[in-house]
Amino acid sequence: MKDPICGMEVDKSSRFMSEYHNKRYLFCSVSCKETFDKNPQKFVK
Ligand SMILES: [Zn+2]
Repeated sequence: MKDPICGMEVDKSSRFMSEYHNKRYLFCSVSCKETFDKNPQKFVK
């Protein structure tokens, strides 16, 4: 799965996960997760 913030490939066991509109998004780091959580609609098409 791809980190929607930085485009990095992330393992699906990643600890950094958010849900938005019933979809799960995984992140490489807490800072990518926080960026997403602040403004998820910017990163989801
Ligand atoms: Zn990232």
